[in-house]
This record gives sequence, structure tokens and C-alpha cells, in this order.
Amino acid sequence: MLIDSHCHLDYLEDPRHGMSVGDVLARARDAGVGHMLTVAVDRGNIPKVIAHARQYPQVSASVGIHPGACGDGPLVQESELFLLAADPNVVAIGETGLDYHYGLEHAELQRSSFAVHLRAGSAAELPVIVHTREAVQDTLDIMSTHADPRFGGVMHCFTESIEMALAAIEMNFFVSFSGIVTFRNADALRSVVKAVPLDRLLVETDAPYLAPVPFRGRSNEPAFVARVAEAVAEIKGLSPESVIEASGANFARLFTRARLG
Ligand SMILES: [Zn+2]
Ligand SMILES: [Zn+2]
Repeated sequence: MLIDSHCHLDYLEDPRHGMSVGDVLARARDAGVGHMLTVAVDRGNIPKVIAHARQYPQVSASVGIHPGACGDGPLVQESELFLLAADPNVVAIGETGLDYHYGLEHAELQRSSFAVHLRAGSAAELPVIVHTREAVQDTLDIMSTHADPRFGGVMHCFTESIEMALAAIEMNFFVSFSGIVTFRNADALRSVVKAVPLDRLLVETDAPYLAPVPFRGRSNEPAFVARVAEAVAEIKGLSPESVIEASGANFARLFTRARLG
């Protein structure tokens, strides 16, 4: 099954993108997308993310505070995430992680928040969605201390090295690739796609960001995950069907609470 393992459906309703979720889901269905995981980024959008998963059977939700948002309010508590995770539509904790791209002002907070999310994932027996950018060693160190290998998680929109991908896989994590794999200047990332075993790989849009070629510059949406799967297949020298089947099966193995009609 073709699955968008990471998108932000509620963002598509912003005036900047101007879409209705109903239309987005219709286009996704027409493109063969059987399921999608819509991901929370802050306390403000968690209720919307859960509401979409309640309303639409082909949508699952995650709950968490993005590293870029963890300076916006009090540090998230394990109990807060644990309570949110009691909703049966919530299949993962996150997105969380470390993003040092925009500076280190909130680095200490990001690290604390990341550890809280990983411990909450363990307590709630759910996988964790990890966002990591320019913070390789700290990400791996915190994962090795706090991640629960029984439930693992995913390195989403992965853009780091082969070594980091393999280290995460060692901790029972999956690696998810976005439309960046279609970008002209992404040869290094395409080498990572080649190196990640097919049974550890997911595909995502991260919509509304990062639309794949030939849709670059437009708002991204889950329908375009078909293009990501095709690109991954081309890079690995496989048929699109085999990537769709394997990544869908991987999603089911990781997000065991997702109801995949
Ligand atoms: Zn992210
Ligand atoms: Zn995201």
C-alpha cells in the first residue's frame, strides 16, 4: 500500500496553501495513497491533528512538539504526551528531535524535550518520529540513552549520512525519504537511499513543504508521495510497485496501532 508516512494536513488549510482537507484526501485517493500519518508540531495544532484522524479512517495522528517549537512554551512533560497518546487515533509520538540549522539558542531545551518524547514513547509503547538536522552526534547519543528499541521509530525526511542512517537502524528505527530525493543537488542523499535496506525504508511528503520534482515551488500534498516512491525505486533500480509494497509493509510493522483498511 502506498502510504505517506509524514505530512501536516492541517497546514494545508492555512490561507497560504488554501486547500480543503477533503479535496486533499480525494486527490490522494486518486493517486493511490491508501493511508497517511499527519504529524503534530506544537500544542496549538495537536487538537486539529487528532481531529483529522478521528474524522478520516485513512488518516492516523502523532502527538509531539517539534524541536523548532519547543521554546514557545513550558517544556513538554512525559505525562502530557502519555495522556494524549491514549487516543486510539494516535499511532506515534513526535515529531521531536534536534534541529541546529537555525542556531543553538534552544539546543538545551531541544535535547530535554527530545529525551522526554523518547521516554513517553517507551511508556506509551509507541514509536517516535524523529526530526534531525545538523545535530548528528547529539541525536544519536540521546537516542541511545532514551529510545526504546522495542518500539523504535523513524528518522523522518532524512538528509544526513549513511553512517547515521545505519546507526539509527541498529536501534530499530526506520528511515523515511521525502521529495528531496528528486532534487538535482541531492546526489549524497541518493547514495543514502541506495544504502538503506528496503525493509527499513519509508516514504513521505512532509507536505506542505518540499514538493518533489516536477511540482517544486507548489504546495506539497500527500498525492505527491507517489512521485517520491517512484524516485526511490529509480535510485534503487527496483519497480515502483516493490517500493510501494515494501514501504507500506514497513509502515504497518512500525506503526502497529494504525488501522490500515
Ligand atoms: Zn520535521
Ligand atoms: Zn514534519
